[in-house]
Amino acid sequence: MCSPEAAPSALRMLAPGLNAYTLRFDPDLLKPLQAEFNHSVQPWLQSKPGQRALQGGRLLRQALPGRQYAVFSYNTYPLLWIAHHNAERMTLFQRLFRQLGLDLHLQTQVQPLHRVRFYAGFFVVGQQAPAALWHDDYAPAAPGYTLITPLYPLAPEHGHLLYKTADGQEAIYRYQSGEAVLIGAGLQHSTQPYAPSGQLRVLLSLTLGSDRLRDWPLLAPTIGRQARYFQLPCGHIRGQCLCRLWARFRRDLA
Ligand SMILES: [Zn+2]
Repeated sequence: MCSPEAAPSALRMLAPGLNAYTLRFDPDLLKPLQAEFNHSVQPWLQSKPGQRALQGGRLLRQALPGRQYAVFSYNTYPLLWIAHHNAERMTLFQRLFRQLGLDLHLQTQVQPLHRVRFYAGFFVVGQQAPAALWHDDYAPAAPGYTLITPLYPLAPEHGHLLYKTADGQEAIYRYQSGEAVLIGAGLQHSTQPYAPSGQLRVLLSLTLGSDRLRDWPLLAPTIGRQARYFQLPCGHIRGQCLCRLWARFRRDLA
């Protein structure tokens, strides 16, 4: 029998009038990804190249040794977005997407043709945030969301999430175990700055949104940048999609 506590509750708006939400869930659902992080990513972070990457100062876009994961940074900012780099690794993140019931919860926001699409999953790792880097994840009105939740509880000195309320005030969302925040287009936000810490700050992120290929031009500047191996709105893997070709072929036949 399924206990009511285990069932994911509905979304709550982060603050009035914002395209951002929180979602409670059973933190035990993170266990497979915690094991995966410890086994497949942590050793690289402890290696010399990993330690150097955590210092920031360089743009990173490269596969990690073993090619199971790839690392991406926004310019020189010391925050590493570590994405699955093959189908097997991607499955672990996509399973969590299903378990969280995101297709059900985001129907109204995303208005998919059939179902809300999972695009990619990441470990977001850092140990310092020198300054606020305010940004919007998506182009205006892009039907995409970035889910973020702590993979491990943050240390007291770690930064949380700064965001702007509807009337432009700065506010803080505090990450907590068993709760995810979903960031949509239009939410100005930043990591809360924090001094170098001896402990890694490890968040888990999933990107998701529309299953309509026609929305891809709006989503591509975000989704197409952070990972090399990800799902397009149509559900095909980047570089393995023939949808546009088929559409043209059908038009030619008509
Ligand atoms: Zn396709």
